[in-house]
Amino acid sequence: MAFKGKFNKFTYLHGADRPGHDVTELASWTFDLTNTSWFGSKQVSLYITDFFQRQNRTYPFEARSGATYRFNLKTVDWNWGQGDTAILYDAQGQVIDQWQFFLKEYAPGQCPECHGTKKCGACKGNWLRNNPNLMSDQLFIKCKRCYSTGRCQTCDIPYHLDAMGNEIYVPYIAGNTKSVASLQREINSKQQRLQLLMNEMRQLQLQGRANSISYMKMKSESDQLSREIDALNMQLRYNAR
Ligand SMILES: [Zn+2]
Ligand SMILES: [Zn+2]
Repeated sequence: MAFKGKFNKFTYLHGADRPGHDVTELASWTFDLTNTSWFGSKQVSLYITDFFQRQNRTYPFEARSGATYRFNLKTVDWNWGQGDTAILYDAQGQVIDQWQFFLKEYAPGQCPECHGTKKCGACKGNWLRNNPNLMSDQLFIKCKRCYSTGRCQTCDIPYHLDAMGNEIYVPYIAGNTKSVASLQREINSKQQRLQLLMNEMRQLQLQGRANSISYMKMKSESDQLSREIDALNMQLRYNAR
């Protein structure tokens, strides 16, 4: 009994179900699960969780042979964010397979599509353009590459939001198969680097150079490091259970 799972971009109409509202096309991610077996159907359940296990859900269903099931904002009210995991169980509670949603994270300026501008590589952010075809009765055309968002699709990573509406950062960890030992090593080395930065920043503060460019650079690196350390610690607690 084999299943194939894949994360895909999809678009949906927002506001279409509410009369009198403007209808806008939005893009999001969907997890599409296909039962590739040719024989019969199977009772399964899909467990979905975010990286830190703040929210999770279980969807039991009967997977018919050859059928594809879509899990997204429209079907199960789940908007996929970086690090989210889907685990498929059989009726006996045994894991059949699991998938994790990770988009590659690029260092500042390293994105091959936008080189750091965060703008769509096709329309450069101007997603609504005059139609060059003057014979067409369509005055404007929308950019298909960025789903009319103007944002770079290569480095635009969705995150879940906390109660204050801020993005909950999840570090990019390909495959997420890290052992507790390797997580601890990574945390230690990041903490050492952070300590070094803190010391150097304190030196600059004492010299009255807390407004200097090198201080600002250290500050942004140390902020990033503390977020990564927090995230790794949460993952460590989860893995060590
Ligand atoms: Zn980009
Ligand atoms: Zn575009």
